[in-house]
Amino acid sequence: MAIRLLPPQLANQIAAGEVVERPASVVKELVENCIDAGATELRIDIEKGGARRIRIRDNGSGIPKDELELALSRHATSKIATLDDLEAIHSLGFRGEALASISSVSRLRLSSKPADQTEAWQAWCEGRDMQVTLEPTSHPNGTTVDVQDLFFNTPARRKFLRTEKTEFGHIDEVVRRIALACPEVDIQLNHNQQLLRHYPSANTDQKLLSRLRQIAGKRFADEALHIEWAPEANDEHAVAIRGWIAPPQACRHQTDVQYMYVNGRMMKDKLLNHAVRQAYGDSLSNDRQATYILYITLPANDVDVNVHPAKHEVRFQHARQVHDFVLLQIRQALAPYISEQQHAYEH
Ligand code: ADP
Ligand code: MG
Repeated sequence: MAIRLLPPQLANQIAAGEVVERPASVVKELVENCIDAGATELRIDIEKGGARRIRIRDNGSGIPKDELELALSRHATSKIATLDDLEAIHSLGFRGEALASISSVSRLRLSSKPADQTEAWQAWCEGRDMQVTLEPTSHPNGTTVDVQDLFFNTPARRKFLRTEKTEFGHIDEVVRRIALACPEVDIQLNHNQQLLRHYPSANTDQKLLSRLRQIAGKRFADEALHIEWAPEANDEHAVAIRGWIAPPQACRHQTDVQYMYVNGRMMKDKLLNHAVRQAYGDSLSNDRQATYILYITLPANDVDVNVHPAKHEVRFQHARQVHDFVLLQIRQALAPYISEQQHAYEH
């Protein structure tokens, strides 16, 4: 077969293979966009576990009419412009792929109105050339992305969808992660027209505790140790940490409350998980799991987030230092619960 350029839709569908694994990945990408747009309110409507519909409305910056078409094309982003930007990412998105990918494997409609524009506009694209159509619509300030019939045109993917309940469970978890990443944002999650979760904006300590209780349970909210450590302002590679960690006796039996954020991005990072586990040492009995919600902040230059299209991995420039820092901080917090013997053994 001769070499040929793939039509845009097919190229996007191939890219979608990496980013859009299931409905929850669509929710993750769309919600990240809302957060990047500075939204303070998110309304998420899911139907049939996301297979029928995923609709997310925000009150963020909106997209001007003349940028809607670009927003739907691949490699189009407002978040980075140069290689320097790529080396110090300050937003959740930067690849300019999500909307194009999702729209190539679903029926996607993008509606938006920036505050300084009088009318709202709606855009969608169709066919192998992903031709964009624009039409006026009504919409408050902000953006709605409505994704229907996910994978309708990629049967191989559609086959891998699990039950409605399982897919919704994954969405629920993605929303919990975001709810912990952005406590000040008011989030509503509906499934089949029923309001299942509401995380009211947690702009006071009291409300933050109540969000913690909603997500990590009463025992965690009551007993977790608060950690907070920030470096001196002139310490240029320094790492900051804050969050909560359960004392050994309040640790959960499941691994469901292990939330680790790096520069605002939820991570499953083996190295950091290891540091936390090591800090508990022998104090944790076999049937309990390290239980924590931790936010690590370090200079954007010192982390590479461009490791995987789904952006759930990072690479640290000084991995060992970050590991040891986390270990030390957590060990200090847990010190009253960790036996002297273990310290002696490890030093
Ligand atoms: P990326 O997030 O990597 O830039 P996306 O395909 O997710 O790529 O989005 C493309 C562009 O569309 C974004 O850079 C942004 O300018 C715009 N956009 C997408 N969603 C929203 C939203 N909810 N509010 C405002 N702008 C948005
Ligand atoms: Mg994005």
